[in-house]
Amino acid sequence: MSDLPIELDVLAIFSHPDDVELSVAGTLLKQKSLGYRTGIADMTRGEMGTRGTPEIRAKEALDAAHILKLDIRLNLEQTDGHVCLNEESRTAVVRVIRSHRPRVILTTHWDDPHPDHAATCRIVREAARLATMARYDAEGKQQPVRMPAIAHSVFSRLVVPSFIVDVSDFVEEKMKAIRAHASQFYRPESREPTTRISEKTFLQQIEWRMRYYGSLIGVAAGEPFYVREALNVDDPVALLTRPMNIYS
Ligand SMILES: [Zn+2]
Repeated sequence: MSDLPIELDVLAIFSHPDDVELSVAGTLLKQKSLGYRTGIADMTRGEMGTRGTPEIRAKEALDAAHILKLDIRLNLEQTDGHVCLNEESRTAVVRVIRSHRPRVILTTHWDDPHPDHAATCRIVREAARLATMARYDAEGKQQPVRMPAIAHSVFSRLVVPSFIVDVSDFVEEKMKAIRAHASQFYRPESREPTTRISEKTFLQQIEWRMRYYGSLIGVAAGEPFYVREALNVDDPVALLTRPMNIYS
């Protein structure tokens, strides 16, 4: 793994160092198994977190990156709890997109209740567009890119997924990558304050969500995505005859 400007197929841009693992790690593992180059850009170092420190969290993020077999993992060092759409944050993301030229970006959804997550989504959407404009951030001396496709990880029950990725073969590895963020989740010996995500049942609930979304497509585990743009389907027969659940 290096942070040299290698080109990526899939780049996940989320707010905090464990967000990708909790949301789309199964999809990243699956894409890697299919031969794609994958990466993560974390917007912040998670320094507002009740548990852990930025240093501990950086080490955990690196451990998780190895488990996810990432080609790169970057940190944009925005201020945790204060991620907002402004010129500085847009330019930072434009530069990452121009450096690594992802074909697909995975990110949060704009209707997320966490302000950092909602802001990250907006920054990513605007930066993806701006990265195509040659005269935006000309001082960065980078080439513009073709607009990457953006898929938003679905968390709210109010957002209907556009598609669900079958991640049945990657549940164990995903949970291992999540547990690499040991400071954040349940450990009986931890003396740090308990948070919602460090409660014993939280990781179980993450797995139940995967099982639920898997059930909607008739498989053991799934990760849901929303795409704002119309999907261009080449072969509706091939698409629609894949396993589905008529009660979904
Ligand atoms: Zn987060």
